[in-house]
Amino acid sequence: MRILAEYIWVDGTRPTAQLRSKTRVMGPGEVPPSTELKEGTEIDPSVFPEWGADGSSTNQAGGSDSDIGLKPVRAVPDPIRKGHYLVLCEVFDGGGAIHETNTRAKLRQVLDNGGAESEAWFGFEQEYTFLDRTLHPLGFPPGGYPGPQGPYYCAVGSQWIYGRKVYEEFLQACLDAQLEISGVNWEVMPGQAEFQIGAAGALIAPDHMWLARWLLLRIAEDHKVIVSFSPKPAVGDWNGAGMHTNFSTKAMREPGGMKHILAACEAIGGKREEHLAVYGHDYQLRLTGHHETCSYAEFRYGVADRTASIRIPRHVADKGYGYLEDRRPNANADPYEIAARLIATVNKIEFDIAA
Ligand code: ADP
Ligand code: MN
Ligand code: MN
Ligand code: MN
Repeated sequence: MRILAEYIWVDGTRPTAQLRSKTRVMGPGEVPPSTELKEGTEIDPSVFPEWGADGSSTNQAGGSDSDIGLKPVRAVPDPIRKGHYLVLCEVFDGGGAIHETNTRAKLRQVLDNGGAESEAWFGFEQEYTFLDRTLHPLGFPPGGYPGPQGPYYCAVGSQWIYGRKVYEEFLQACLDAQLEISGVNWEVMPGQAEFQIGAAGALIAPDHMWLARWLLLRIAEDHKVIVSFSPKPAVGDWNGAGMHTNFSTKAMREPGGMKHILAACEAIGGKREEHLAVYGHDYQLRLTGHHETCSYAEFRYGVADRTASIRIPRHVADKGYGYLEDRRPNANADPYEIAARLIATVNKIEFDIAA
């Protein structure tokens, strides 16, 4: 059987990167069909050859020196083309150097410079909005607005829920791809939902987030639905879309961890602008101080406080250890950059975010 490997990479589009992918047909015997692997088997990404692409069409190179290199770094079973693979790649330039848009490599550098010792885990809550092909949120009547927010969150019933089929197929696809998905829920605005990736390690959680985003976009195609990661898809009295980032180090997860959580909150507060710089374009539109956010101009943390920048969950405070939730990242943020920034700040590692 010939195996199809869908090579997926993050491009250089600014201000918000996009996903790109293309298919490689593998020679017979190069890799076994993914359906033959025992569940839970980690697939060595290096069995997939390095490949290239046209960087001049992905905002990653000029036309006269346009080749970019794709290096497989994570492979999972393809839940759409059964038996085949999704292969997440890092991008290198024509000379083999880390490409400036390769934010995963920056995260690796932070981990290599001492960040790995803290054994960070992440849980990302990705909110998103379904749009029709006229870029109108599902559930918004043509030219008008639906009833006010309130009944849509975690709802059931056709008067509240729009896009259930994509949401269900996507969840099953994440399970079949063996992604570390921990839940899904419908959100406060009609047509808006969330999925959570994690808790998982510092590289695997962002990798699985990008793979999950690819699957969501891909499955929505089959239903002629657009997925928007815009932080403020509808102006007015409608919730924005974020990517709350739950974060812990080993020290925070152990008894007595609360003092490490509080120290992390203080350190993160001391680098407010550096964090906001990688929390997604147009964060000002979402972080207004309304709709369960804290204004971007402030920094506050608190227990069970959904109006703070960082929330320490009630159950964490009660136990005295666990994790914190940075509520500021936007839905359109890059999870590699968020992870790198948090680990660097909390471990006091010099880190230049310029991307
Ligand atoms: P919320 O109550 O904010 O909606 P969710 O249940 O949507 O929270 O998401 C919480 C996320 O935090 C989940 O993905 C979960 O796996 C993750 N998480 C749990 N414990 C930890 C931890 N110790 N470190 C990092 N992430 C964690
Ligand atoms: Mn959530
Ligand atoms: Mn949410
Ligand atoms: Mn949350």
